[in-house]
Amino acid sequence: MNSEVTELRRAFPIFAAVPPPFHYLDNAATAQICHSAAEALHAFETRGRANVKRGVYRLADAATAAFEEARTAVAAYLGTDDPSEIAFTSGTTMGLNLAAHVLSPRLGPGRAILVSELEHHSNIVPWQMAAERTGAELRVAPVDEEGRLLVDRLEALLDERVAVVAIAHVSNVTGILVDVARVGAAARAVGALLVVDGAQRVPHGPFDVRALGCDLYAFSGHKMFAATGAGAIWIRRELAEELPPFLGGGEMIARVSFAGTTYARPPHRFEAGTPAIGPVLALGAAARWLLTLNWQTVRRREEALTARLLDGLAALPAIRILGPRDIRDRFGIVAFEVAGLHAHDVCQLLDGFGVCTRGGHHCAQPLMDRFGTVASVRASLAPYNDEADVDALLTGLEVISRKFR
Ligand code: PMP
Repeated sequence: MNSEVTELRRAFPIFAAVPPPFHYLDNAATAQICHSAAEALHAFETRGRANVKRGVYRLADAATAAFEEARTAVAAYLGTDDPSEIAFTSGTTMGLNLAAHVLSPRLGPGRAILVSELEHHSNIVPWQMAAERTGAELRVAPVDEEGRLLVDRLEALLDERVAVVAIAHVSNVTGILVDVARVGAAARAVGALLVVDGAQRVPHGPFDVRALGCDLYAFSGHKMFAATGAGAIWIRRELAEELPPFLGGGEMIARVSFAGTTYARPPHRFEAGTPAIGPVLALGAAARWLLTLNWQTVRRREEALTARLLDGLAALPAIRILGPRDIRDRFGIVAFEVAGLHAHDVCQLLDGFGVCTRGGHHCAQPLMDRFGTVASVRASLAPYNDEADVDALLTGLEVISRKFR
């Protein structure tokens, strides 16, 4: 095994716990937790547990300080030094629902929301619900036969009626990177706000969220090597000040009375109730750990592994890759079908080789429709994957397609 990968795997408790063969290729669904994130979670629950934002004793003060440090770490990972732009959520799904609610006052009859055909259901359904609630129209930008967003077609759908554009940064089916900066410029030109589903981009290294030209950016902690239960949404500072709250309750208020309630400033306005404190601390720890990696090397390795995976799949006669055959503008996520076999059966058979993959519609049924299928197998890479993982998948597929078709 590559020595860098060996070193990386030491940072993940799972690799000491699960006996080989263990080839974890389901990272787009949930990635493994890194040691520092697991430790932050454990330390809080066993040695530092107190509620945040309200206590005045030392234990509670320390919990609040750690919570705010996590916010600073997550902000730094997104290239901003303004932690108040980060609101903690339970994950991408909640972040996108939050976005659909706080932007609803801008919607209504005569207004439109623009999404794309490659979206995860969590960036479709909240907007459909918002459209139903407000009377706004939902428009859909198409993709080509490889699943690449047709940005020209998206631009043609933009006019001054469009109030919100909601788009994924990276597809969870094809790994395709969307040119968010171009979409952002086009959205701004008609006065629309841009919401980005960053669930599949965030685990692949730090970037400058402001440079993307978007307004809100949602993601999950469990896909970026932290715990389940916490994620965040970045909201551009100037916009956040103008937005109404999402959920009502404790901690999101300035003053409550029956004559009328006033709200706290961002980000607390968007954080009603007791948050998932341990998972938030884990998210901060994961962001700090991710910032220590050499991303040039990690990206180069991911590209080489993605190419190896694509070439290996293309060499197997029974396989149809959904999406591009090349690595241009894509991350290490590859979906494919095995002729004559259901995706779930393939995944179960691969498990016999110690290979963990995902089978199904990947919560992207409109994209599956575009590919003319209902289900596929998906392999997705993380920095701790190496050639042996990809080769185990390819060998498994070769045996399966020979034996069972
Ligand atoms: N968007 C994308 C692109 C995703 O891949 C996922 C997770 N599969 C989600 C949203 C939803 O994330 P979560 O379930 O963590 O809220």
